Amino acid sequence: MKNVQLYDKSFKPYMSYEEIQKAIDTVAEKINNDLKDEHTPIFLGVLTGSFMFFGDLLKRINLECETCFIRLASYEGTSSTGQVKQLLGLTQSVKDRNIVVVEDIVDTGGTINELYKLLKENGARSIRIATLMFKPGSYKGTIKIDYPACSIPNDFIVGFGLDYDQIGRNLKDIYVLDVEETERRKGINIR
Ligand code: 5GP
Ligand code: MG
Repeated sequence: MKNVQLYDKSFKPYMSYEEIQKAIDTVAEKINNDLKDEHTPIFLGVLTGSFMFFGDLLKRINLECETCFIRLASYEGTSSTGQVKQLLGLTQSVKDRNIVVVEDIVDTGGTINELYKLLKENGARSIRIATLMFKPGSYKGTIKIDYPACSIPNDFIVGFGLDYDQIGRNLKDIYVLDVEETERRKGINIR
């Protein structure tokens, strides 16, 4: 696989589509098993980044369940602003419901912390967290991340739903920022 160029940055292959699918198999199996006796859970997707993970995960869920989405944002460019904005709030009641949050990536934990508070305030009975990617090295939260499909270092990744300034979400595989190649390309002024 080759590097991809997104605006001013170069990204190198990090995880293939096939590897991602295997990781999703594993979390789906755990979720199916853990929730088999619970009343109709709601899978709550955190837009936008989780849309591919959400689809692939839900295809493997064999429980009676509902789906719902919320839209939060904390990132600008390649770093967290530390502030979480609610762009689309809860559109469905979570009172007394079992919730499985489906995130693209848990980094500092700011987003998940805000969402957890919101779900608690609205009376959720149980809250579990599934995430495609987890950065344990930068996580500052105390909430347990129940289902991390993959744990990764503190590098910036794109693809499979994840963006760099809104582009790159359509990439089938996951790529990581290639600092040297980005610098080299800047030097010779190519994109
Ligand atoms: P947190 O609030 O945990 O610091 O950040 C969570 C959100 O930041 C994620 O849901 C995701 O939208 C964004 N984010 C964190 N790390 C990355 C990354 O490596 N790549 C991309 N594209 N987004 C990230
Ligand atoms: Mg997100």
